[in-house]
Amino acid sequence: MSYRIATIPGDGIGPEVVDATLPLFQTAANTHGVDVEFVGYDWGSQRYLEEGAMMPDDGLDHLADKDSILLGAVGHPEVPDHVTLHGLLLPIRKGFNQQVCKRPAILFDGVESPLRGYEGGDIEFTVFRENTEGEYSDIGGREHVGFDHEVAVQSAMFTRAGTEAILRAAFEAAREREGHLTSITKSNAQAFSMVFWDEVVAEVAADYPDVEVESLLVDAASMDFIRRPEEFDVVVASNLFGDILTDIGAIVTGSMGLAPSGNINVDGDYPSMFEPVHGSAPDIVGQGVANPLATVLSGAMLFEDLGEEAVSEALWAAVRDLLADGDAPRTPDLGGDASTVDVVAALETRL
Ligand code: ATP
Ligand code: MG
Repeated sequence: MSYRIATIPGDGIGPEVVDATLPLFQTAANTHGVDVEFVGYDWGSQRYLEEGAMMPDDGLDHLADKDSILLGAVGHPEVPDHVTLHGLLLPIRKGFNQQVCKRPAILFDGVESPLRGYEGGDIEFTVFRENTEGEYSDIGGREHVGFDHEVAVQSAMFTRAGTEAILRAAFEAAREREGHLTSITKSNAQAFSMVFWDEVVAEVAADYPDVEVESLLVDAASMDFIRRPEEFDVVVASNLFGDILTDIGAIVTGSMGLAPSGNINVDGDYPSMFEPVHGSAPDIVGQGVANPLATVLSGAMLFEDLGEEAVSEALWAAVRDLLADGDAPRTPDLGGDASTVDVVAALETRL
């Protein structure tokens, strides 16, 4: 098979980790008889500062005919976060109907968790976060009411189609893993949206009698991600709750530099997009020490999504093997003193 993959290295350490890992993806693909062509787009905050837009007006047209998208990071100290989000990430996620955000949280052998008493292999769950609506629907406004009342309203929209899409994706994953599913809710305080969410969970669950379902309030879940992370398997949450929980998931597994993610178009009518969970990391940019493993694993998720299991497995295996080897190079976030390219070279050998 042969694929064309759009790459958007983006800002900060984004170009460092993407440029370093593309040759690795070539090797992994070629070894398994898969052809890939990477088509790069230098969109991001630099473009915004020079030309006033993160990407061109017809940006999505450039990406639409690609088989998948790999993104590095966006974010810049001189560009407000809402600009980077609304100028690039959200148009792609919403325009390409990437309803499902999938974020595995895995504590690898050889990696230290900030949680006492946990070691490699103890934690392995995946969060499915609704990615295009919910609390981030951009509905609301600000008003001065009367003489001295100022009001801001931010509404959350949960459509049946969107809610079902994220729940079905999560239930499918739970079935495939022969695991259980935790639905995150807040129906005690949000009587419209979350009671609706719970109802749709019950409906979809009827199609998956083999999947055990647990329902957890988001506040309790935040606590339990720290207290008993080993008990989670597949977790499904709304846009806002998933956003928060995935950061906790990323950090209990050792480093932001290890956490991959996918923004998935379930229907297959547009490309999906894969990206490390971390941002542009302005504090370490230009030092050549960014951990490339989150990007490598994002690539592994990308190939899995394309149906290229062997390529995906090879990348996962290389990362697991590297982390389990106490003598292998690792970047400073994992307690080592190796550079980005040292780590990629060690992976290349393993492939
Ligand atoms: P942004 O505004 O782009 O989201 P941020 O300031 O939120 O950036 P992150 O990029 O999310 O920062 O990083 C949070 C912390 O984790 C920083 O201290 C950063 O150096 C560290 N970090 C993030 N990614 C990596 C990585 N790939 N390798 C090493 N450290 C990382
Ligand atoms: Mg950030």
